[in-house]
Amino acid sequence: MEGSSLTDATHDGVFPGLRPGKLNVAIVGASLRSASILRLLNEVENISVVAVADPNRGAPGIRLAEDLGVFTTSDITELYQMPGLDLIVDLTDDEQMRRTLTQQKPADVELIGARGSEMVWDLLIAKKRGEEQEKLFVELQVAYDKIRSHERKLQSGKEALERANEELESRLAEIFFTHEFFKALTSFTSVDDVTSLIVDGANGILGAEISCVYLLENESWTLNLRASQGRPEDYFVPRIPVSETMLGVAFGGGLVQEAAIPRGATSALWVRDPDDLASHAGISLRTGDSIFGVLAIGSAIPREFTPPELERLTVISNQASLALQNALLHEELERLSVTDRLTELYNHGYFQQRLEEELGRAGRFNHTLSLIMIDIDDFKEFNDTYGHPRGDKVLHMVSDTIKANLREMDVAARYGGEEFVVVLPETDTEGAAAVAERIRAGVEALPFATAEGAAPVHKTVSVGVATYPQHATAQNRFVEAADKAMYAAKHAGKNKVMVAP
Ligand code: GH3
Ligand code: MG
Ligand code: MG
Repeated sequence: MEGSSLTDATHDGVFPGLRPGKLNVAIVGASLRSASILRLLNEVENISVVAVADPNRGAPGIRLAEDLGVFTTSDITELYQMPGLDLIVDLTDDEQMRRTLTQQKPADVELIGARGSEMVWDLLIAKKRGEEQEKLFVELQVAYDKIRSHERKLQSGKEALERANEELESRLAEIFFTHEFFKALTSFTSVDDVTSLIVDGANGILGAEISCVYLLENESWTLNLRASQGRPEDYFVPRIPVSETMLGVAFGGGLVQEAAIPRGATSALWVRDPDDLASHAGISLRTGDSIFGVLAIGSAIPREFTPPELERLTVISNQASLALQNALLHEELERLSVTDRLTELYNHGYFQQRLEEELGRAGRFNHTLSLIMIDIDDFKEFNDTYGHPRGDKVLHMVSDTIKANLREMDVAARYGGEEFVVVLPETDTEGAAAVAERIRAGVEALPFATAEGAAPVHKTVSVGVATYPQHATAQNRFVEAADKAMYAAKHAGKNKVMVAP
């Protein structure tokens, strides 16, 4: 069976496509173009294509009509018998067909020819385009909304991601800094380097606005400023008694913080202008039982350190303390290695090293440089009479007398036994002889205790003076010249100062 037939349709009494209230259309000619128009018309809501007629039953329009369930025929006269048909569209472009249709069609059926059908085509295309544009527009709208919502999601996701990223980055930076900080801490052996690094760490890891390290000075029992950051050095009080200010509390108690320092609080007196300080925290630097000092941080704004920040401060202080202990030990060892235990003057080795340096400098800058050689008179006798321990006391007191008569830049050393040597940079013979004389007189005046109830005894020294470059230029000759002058003093009767010839 080839599609529906008029006979079938009449049997049912109704053409399948005929719809009341719609424009019922028949198409004549079933070319490709007709098929396109059929498809377009079929989509129009108030048009119903009820038949397609073409003598060629294999034409594309016929096949499409069959697919769409539209009545097809090869005999156009069948169209005239369709009740309710409103319009015949002639798409054949055939003059003969046109004439036949005009003559034979029922009067109430309209006919559109080639030119009319062109217009229908254009209208349909336009409509279709409009619909599609509309559809496209709606789809675009939907897509746009989707994109927007995705974008919003993405945006918030991105922001969260960026925040997470930033957090991660700052955490990474902190970890990196901390790692570098700890690495550096263990590689430094000088106390100054370590304390500078500690304030760097407080700044880099804690973001401290003001940070400083105070170290304990045992003799004076004070905390002395060793490194600072965030303010000029004179912002800080350089020496603080161990029991005073927030530093004292931290020194004794470990970790302290004051988020809002009350006006006039004595706790802030570790800075010269306490009104500038709104908050501060401090932690002791210690390993085991030994406390070396305090790491203090401060801010001009009130600020409470969070538990993680205090945790970090503690970690920094622990690591810093280890490094500091190491550096202090190193410094002490270094000091010991150049110091004479008994007299606390420099030792022979250090003297030779410093003399070499000072001679080099004097040579470069054309300066004079003097050397004083001191030997205690008849010391063997003293030891033999009063014992070695009392002799040691004499050595110690003579050393103190020597030191008391020197400038900061002078270098006093124990040359060996009961002999001392002093290097006096930028000092001529006259100046050095004057210093030598003060030392000689000072020692002469010292009273040495000998035994319980016994009167103190006095000791004397013989002193030789030599000056670079007039008495010698080579180091060993220079020492020899001072030594010879000292022996000249001995030969002249001791308790004298003699200058090299
Ligand atoms: P002169 O006036 O010629 O210098 O006589 P002197 O006895 O001082 O010289 P001598 O070189 O004969 O003796 C030096 C003495 O210094 C020998 C030693 O008992 C003493 N002496 C050296 N080192 C020390 C020390 O570390 N402690 C003590 N108590 N005595 C020392
Ligand atoms: Mg001697
Ligand atoms: Mg002697």
